[in-house]
Amino acid sequence: MKIAIIGTGYVGLVSGACFAEFGHEVTCIDKDAEKIARLQRGEIPIYEPGLDQLVHKNISAGRLIFTTEFNPGIPEAQVIFIAVGTPASRRGDGYADLTYVHDAARQLASHLQGYTVIVNKSTVPVGTARQVARIVSEVNPGADFDVASNPEFLREGAAIRDFMHPDRVVIGVDSERAQEVLKAIYRPLYLIETPFVITGIETSELIKYAANAFLATKISFINELANICEEIGADVQDVARGIGLDGRIGKKFLHAGPGYGGSCFPKDTHALLRIAQENGVACRIVESVVEVNSAQKARMARKIRKAVGGNEGGKTIAVLGLAFKPETDDLRDAPALTIISTLLEHGAIIRAHDPQAMKEAARVLDGVTFCSNPYEACEGADAVVLMTEWNEYRALDLKRIKEVMKRPVFVDLRNVYMPRMMAENGFDYYSVGRAAVT
Ligand code: NAD
Repeated sequence: MKIAIIGTGYVGLVSGACFAEFGHEVTCIDKDAEKIARLQRGEIPIYEPGLDQLVHKNISAGRLIFTTEFNPGIPEAQVIFIAVGTPASRRGDGYADLTYVHDAARQLASHLQGYTVIVNKSTVPVGTARQVARIVSEVNPGADFDVASNPEFLREGAAIRDFMHPDRVVIGVDSERAQEVLKAIYRPLYLIETPFVITGIETSELIKYAANAFLATKISFINELANICEEIGADVQDVARGIGLDGRIGKKFLHAGPGYGGSCFPKDTHALLRIAQENGVACRIVESVVEVNSAQKARMARKIRKAVGGNEGGKTIAVLGLAFKPETDDLRDAPALTIISTLLEHGAIIRAHDPQAMKEAARVLDGVTFCSNPYEACEGADAVVLMTEWNEYRALDLKRIKEVMKRPVFVDLRNVYMPRMMAENGFDYYSVGRAAVT
């Protein structure tokens, strides 16, 4: 099938490469001319494991092209995916900013030829598919099209695997014809028995927010339990295991830490709250989840302050990991940004390292010294903070770290290390939801 994808970010680029791998002919369109020029040269603008090989393979096979032009990709496409960003609105009121989705709809409309299915892959508030349909009809009253919703559940860092082996595919449609087209696109997944949830458009739109809000709830839940653990001398990792082995609860997303971040959970929880509010429905659990998450980030800054003796002014703090999670260079809403900003406001000197996110960090963080490896970051530090659990931080040379630091204080916000081992290595060790060893 011929597919066009509008928006070549994390979701659009991964979806485009994977659809091409399925055997479809894919045109990836983006308005960012520099991004497209890089992709045309074979450079991948984001860090996502395995993506470069997949993109190169499918470019060579002639199934994947990149362009800033809507023509001829849009008129030739049987299916058009809208995969543009839907960030939180700049007004700060939690609403999703739909400018990019509306613009994409307006731009594609005049190029439509023959029956086309227009699919929202972006995460969008309930009702957006109908808005897209209205815009397309206004711009091109004669257009023959259906609009569908097909939210994306891939995780950055494991995006290709998630796309190729999803837990499920959700399709929201109100026409048989559109349903058949979408099923045909995803046919390769039938072979691996992927469950399909085929439902109404509004339901499909809500499923994406419900999924992210539920995962965020698990994180805030375990973070609150971690705080209780710290007060009563319990171990949150054992609590998580003790409850997670219950199949009804599940082990995943029960890792205590500095709070959730990234380009999805923060904005999607807020957007769900706005959907509830607009419809006059209480959504108190998600309200609390959001509150607990910002409290957790503030608590982490206090934990670091305490670890350096109650005042971080003039203290050197090494931060290992900036991205919101390992295996991505995405810094959007990363807890590191909030925590580092708080420390800087209180006069701390920050030396940071991240295997992939430093270029972006240098753009958004002022006053931080970026270092080429974790040991350089720890030079002269009064404390080191493990912020993101990259593999390369899981087996640090602790002797070397201790030698280069001014004081051996280790704040492990991801519970990567064992308290007893850190004590044996001579560190004052603070983690999340486990007793400190000093
Ligand atoms: P992104 O910001 O990485 O990429 C969006 C791209 O769209 C940008 O390259 C931008 O230049 C382009 N764009 C915007 N308007 C355009 C237009 N009119 N024409 C052509 N290109 C245009 O965004 P992302 O992280 O890929 O997210 C896209 C959507 O998918 C969001 O709604 C997000 O919530 C959702 N989502 C993201 C993830 C994730 O892990 N990143 C996972 C699931 C769902």
